[in-house]
Amino acid sequence: MISFSDVARAAYCPRQLYYVRRADERRVPPEASARIDLAYRYPSLVGAPDATLRRLPIRRSPAAYRRNLSRLRERDDYDRLVDPDRTRAFCAGKDCHGRVHKVLADSGADGGGADGGTGAVDTPDDDGPPTPVIVSPGEPPENGVWEPQAVRAVAAAKALSWERERTVPRALVEYPSVGVVRSVRLTRRKLAAYRRALRAARAIDGPPPRVDDDRCSACEYRDQCGTGRRSLRSLLG
Ligand code: SF4
Repeated sequence: MISFSDVARAAYCPRQLYYVRRADERRVPPEASARIDLAYRYPSLVGAPDATLRRLPIRRSPAAYRRNLSRLRERDDYDRLVDPDRTRAFCAGKDCHGRVHKVLADSGADGGGADGGTGAVDTPDDDGPPTPVIVSPGEPPENGVWEPQAVRAVAAAKALSWERERTVPRALVEYPSVGVVRSVRLTRRKLAAYRRALRAARAIDGPPPRVDDDRCSACEYRDQCGTGRRSLRSLLG
């Protein structure tokens, strides 16, 4: 069984996952944890004064952050985001398991779509499907979500689908230090990326090849990986 975080790392770089496994280092840093916790505090933050917000690990100015939270309140699922059915819920599917930061009950309009691998079929008078939410401590991209987060969201949706024996056609990724929520639908492309990452995570039995691109500059293992040294060597000819 592969963890949600491992399959996401494999989507980023299989070699990075190799280093994480070797060090057995999966602790969430305190700063990241504090940012994730903001996802459970929107109602008290939306009207909080500048002084309070400045003490929190938000990634926007207090005014911009309050504006983003006000926009969140216009979402149909806002009530469920602030009062989820389950929080930090452990979900185990056929292939992956891990903690889902929130599970929203009955996401309404999203019945039908991909069956999440269970073959389950919704009947018309069912409640809508549940929606898993992955919370990121980081910045969102300009549009959509970063690929490893999409893979993690798909893994969570598939696990929830397996657990509930019903379709889960989408997941959400929340960026609470910015006040933004993005949707991830389980399209063919997203499912294919998830399967690729799953295969890569399973296949690791020694250091996989380096990816050696922009990803390396943000990677905490670049020193031991040697990508910096190799770039320097190539610069020196
Ligand atoms: S430095 Fe680059 S190749 Fe090495 S583990 Fe990190 S992302 Fe992968």
